[in-house]
Amino acid sequence: MEVIQGIQGLKVPSSEAGIDKVMWRHYPDDFRPEYSAASTWDQLRTHAATKEWSKVIWFPQTVPQFAFISWLAIKDRLTTGSRMRAWGDNQSCLFCREPDETRDHLFFACPYSFMVWIEVVGDMLRTEPDPDWDDTLQRLITHPYPRYDYILLRLCFKATIYYLWGERNERRHNNLYRTHSQLARTIERVIRSIIVSLRYYENKKLRGLIQRWFSSRQNH
Ligand SMILES: [Zn+2]
Repeated sequence: MEVIQGIQGLKVPSSEAGIDKVMWRHYPDDFRPEYSAASTWDQLRTHAATKEWSKVIWFPQTVPQFAFISWLAIKDRLTTGSRMRAWGDNQSCLFCREPDETRDHLFFACPYSFMVWIEVVGDMLRTEPDPDWDDTLQRLITHPYPRYDYILLRLCFKATIYYLWGERNERRHNNLYRTHSQLARTIERVIRSIIVSLRYYENKKLRGLIQRWFSSRQNH
């Protein structure tokens, strides 16, 4: 019935009303002659609430590769040993030989990973680092850290995940091994060059970032 009423309610097409035109819907009541991929996508996609961890992953000083691997880690979508088991592949932890290589083990319950995390994070967590994944992520989401610490903490978190995952893959595919100290030094070097590349000295707001980075190493 509703359909019939709907059809009857429409105006009968008439040539006096002019020729038909193709219009694209930009917003629910906004039709325009030009097509917009962005507004079409926005209308087609499912609108989900912003995840509370998104501010840990996406922020102006981020590095896309780090953000992507960390995002996969948060979604537990990295192909860890425990996920590969479903395909008949048995992969234990390549750092400590723990049989069940899970996301939570790699970040940072594994003794090797935890040593790397402790070294990289310095004194910025303000409390002793915890090897528990949920605890670490929750702390980064909720803890009110000072501005510089929060930028650096999230960089440390994502860079550590990225490089641990890279080290894990180097061991798996290329038999290349770095000690936890070597890996931590690499991550520290990378973070330092990221801070410098932000041209912090030209940006009043970011000028304290490099000082805070060095002090977080010394006090530790
Ligand atoms: Zn391990």
